[in-house]
Amino acid sequence: MAETFDVVIIGGGPGGYNAAIRAGQLGLKTAIIESRAALGGTCLNVGCIPSKALLHASDLYEAAQTRFKALGIQVSGVALDLPQMMRQKDEAVDGLTKGVAFLMKKNKVEVVSGRGRIASPDKVEVAGRTLETRNIIIATGSEPTPLPGVEIDEERIVSSTGALSLKQVPKRLAVIGAGVIGLELGSVWRRLGAEVTVIEFLDRVLPGMDSEISAAFLRILKKQGMRFELSTKVVGVEKAAGSLKLALEPAAKDATKASSSLDVDVVLVAIGRRPVAAGLGLDAIGVKTDPRGFIETTDGKTNVEGVWAIGDCTHGPMLAHKAEEEGIAVAQRIAGLWGHVNHALVPSVVYTTPEVASIGATEDELKAAGRAYKVGKFPFTANSRARTNHETDGFVKVIEDEASKRIVGVHMIGVGVGEMIGEMGVAMEFAASAEDVARTCHAHPTLSEAMREAAKGVDGWVMQA
Ligand code: FAD
Ligand code: NAD
Repeated sequence: MAETFDVVIIGGGPGGYNAAIRAGQLGLKTAIIESRAALGGTCLNVGCIPSKALLHASDLYEAAQTRFKALGIQVSGVALDLPQMMRQKDEAVDGLTKGVAFLMKKNKVEVVSGRGRIASPDKVEVAGRTLETRNIIIATGSEPTPLPGVEIDEERIVSSTGALSLKQVPKRLAVIGAGVIGLELGSVWRRLGAEVTVIEFLDRVLPGMDSEISAAFLRILKKQGMRFELSTKVVGVEKAAGSLKLALEPAAKDATKASSSLDVDVVLVAIGRRPVAAGLGLDAIGVKTDPRGFIETTDGKTNVEGVWAIGDCTHGPMLAHKAEEEGIAVAQRIAGLWGHVNHALVPSVVYTTPEVASIGATEDELKAAGRAYKVGKFPFTANSRARTNHETDGFVKVIEDEASKRIVGVHMIGVGVGEMIGEMGVAMEFAASAEDVARTCHAHPTLSEAMREAAKGVDGWVMQA
């Protein structure tokens, strides 16, 4: 008789592998199915990790040529060794994906290679086998959204995957989409020497972020030399022998704006990602999806008993730590334990220099909802550590709800803010007021004092500005 698993997970990304680890820890008989050669999903293989490896290395490359001088460090002969930069990125990916494979073994999770297909709510077919199971977790993630009429070849017209492995620095790079991928990978190639033009449909970068942050970040990126065509759409890309010609049009009918064209060497299409569900067999068992293909869930459960879904293939921000949270919560629930994800407090970080970090509601959202709130702000130009480091771009903005006296949003631009946002996440989970943070002693001199000062600013008692 075929063995029955407690849980079969389809997809080995941060959602799937964290669900697997937790399920294994809780003693559930678990299998995880992955179609890629390595576990780790988009995040470890072609997402978070390789992009951060290139962001880190390219930032140091740029710093050596620009920022070191002011610190009294003379360097000469700084040169790019792109193959080595790519190798160190690949080594980071390789080490981490092997680490995930080790964790599967350690937690007695069976790894099955191949493409999983759900035959019924208690059967998953993969590589000629049928796995019988009490629960299925769908963790199939997402893939780049294609731009109609623009065919990705991953060499000259690339998605984020191709942009992580270009063999040479393009002289001219066009980035379609001023979202997180466009701005992170656009920054990498600009630092390495490309002329980067970002074409964005909307009138701002990072739509969805607090609009004051978007506007300030746009100014910083322009100062760094990135060019922007906002409120503009790409209507076609013509391939010629030596270059690519982008046809651009105003996003909305605008008599004052004409159509134009842009010649570049490489185009990065980064206009969002869409859920992966094709060939999974969702229709056959009646799992509900929304019109954009995202699987509908309530607390991780789909509408079909015993079938769960987590991560990028479901609603919510497409972030590795959100997928991880959901994976752990669902594994807990399957084991009959408590599991909960606070979707209101999922932090978001853009790993540029300076970084952008955000958690909770934006001022725009509170305004639209008609909520009364107070704002405290503090610029890094007035923070002693930032000044000492000559890294003063950016500011911290803390928003408190007037009625509840709770911090409901924190939005920051600055070097290191990606590491700082966690403190505010903890404070907000504990329902802190701005005064609670303002009265918490922070070490001096640290960048995190800027958060404390911004929190003080909510009640008008900033000390240092
Ligand atoms: P995925 O990581 O996409 O994993 C799903 C896995 O399922 C894939 O490996 C896929 O091969 C497999 N799969 C799909 N269908 C099947 C099937 N039928 N059978 C078997 N296997 C299947 N997020 C952050 O939080 N921080 C970042 O810094 C960050 N940087 C990013 C940079 C880039 C360039 C990109 C593209 C994304 C980035 N993200 C980042 C987003 C992050 O990668 C995703 O949110 C995260 O990977 C989602 O995890 P997941 O487990 O839901 O799906
Ligand atoms: P995104 O949704 O962040 O940004 C896409 C951008 O493209 C938007 O600004 C949108 O207005 C624009 N756009 C859409 N259609 C367009 C068109 N036809 N022409 C011009 N612009 C157009 O998507 P992304 O940057 O592709 O990233 C995908 C996902 O990956 C995001 O949800 C993000 O959360 C995740 N990600 C996260 C990180 C991180 O956490 N640091 C890094 C990379 C990716």
